[in-house]
Amino acid sequence: MASIHNTIIIGSGPAGYTASIYLARALLNPVQICGILQGGELMNTTEVENFPSYPDGIQGPELIYRMQRQTEKFGTTLIYENVINIDTSTFPFTVTTHNNNTYKTKSVIIATGSEAKWLGLKNEEKIKGDGLSTCATCDAYFYMNKNVLCIGGGDSAMEEAIFLSKYCKSVTVINRSNKYRASKIILQKAQNIPNISFVSNTIVKEWIINENGLSGVLVKNVVNDNEECIKCDGVFLAIGHTPNTKFLNDSIKLDKDGYILTTLNTMTSVDGIFVCGDVSSLEKNYKQAITASGSGCKAALDCEKWLELNNSN
Ligand code: NDP
Repeated sequence: MASIHNTIIIGSGPAGYTASIYLARALLNPVQICGILQGGELMNTTEVENFPSYPDGIQGPELIYRMQRQTEKFGTTLIYENVINIDTSTFPFTVTTHNNNTYKTKSVIIATGSEAKWLGLKNEEKIKGDGLSTCATCDAYFYMNKNVLCIGGGDSAMEEAIFLSKYCKSVTVINRSNKYRASKIILQKAQNIPNISFVSNTIVKEWIINENGLSGVLVKNVVNDNEECIKCDGVFLAIGHTPNTKFLNDSIKLDKDGYILTTLNTMTSVDGIFVCGDVSSLEKNYKQAITASGSGCKAALDCEKWLELNNSN
């Protein structure tokens, strides 16, 4: 008979690794299903300067490799497969991966994160992390006294623009329509900041790059079809995130944006299944490596306690 694991952690960003480090140190022999491509959003990040204990900064992928080494040291089993289903209808739960491997487990921690949306334009891959960012909190500092664009018209775009305005010489918010999804109060706040300006009804058509990276964007006004090049030193995309929850196939309750809802602390709508990191509805407004790690720790402690109370070996 296939062995029944105490816990399976799904995901390999800071939330997943922190959860597995805690559960391995609690001698629960966790299994972590990392995905085929491990590491999540940090693998697309260059310098991370705000993760405490790295005063000189650290590259995003290096931070992930260190977390991986740390959890391996304590005995976590790492599996590089993509989860396609969790059967919650029977206990123990059955986790199925893309190559039809199945794993039985008494508990699950979901730490699958969310993905920032990108525009998918030509040359985008070349400038990711080098002129093009999806995180002002992470990268604004690198654009001190520079001119940047912020794409989007929702709450995130306004928050990003306000944050950027403290560092940058100018911030131009480019919205594809003249309707802003952002709440009035945050929109007004952004509109009242002198170095933030707004361009409506405008889409980005092309990234303009030279040997130093991004130098501007070609935009088009969707009302009169006029095109123009806007010079800039950097672009921040804030056009939304997609939580990685498709594989749940409606087995767990989600909020209206697709993030996993919690009941008590980090417990999901299914007893014995926990959530942490950016995919959790509790965390969706933070999206920082350190907050993901913190929530991974909380989910591990909740899971450990739950196993103590419910574990019949
Ligand atoms: P939203 O979905 O609210 O807004 C996305 C914005 O990006 C919209 O203006 C949308 O335009 C635009 N957009 C989407 N796709 C494209 C594209 N391909 N090209 C150009 N523009 C595009 O996402 P947010 O991340 O802003 O917010 C997500 C949720 O999180 C919301 O519920 C928000 O209220 C919440 N939030 C709350 C915060 C807070 O309370 N402090 C802070 C940040 C977020 P269009 O309108 O035309 O579709």
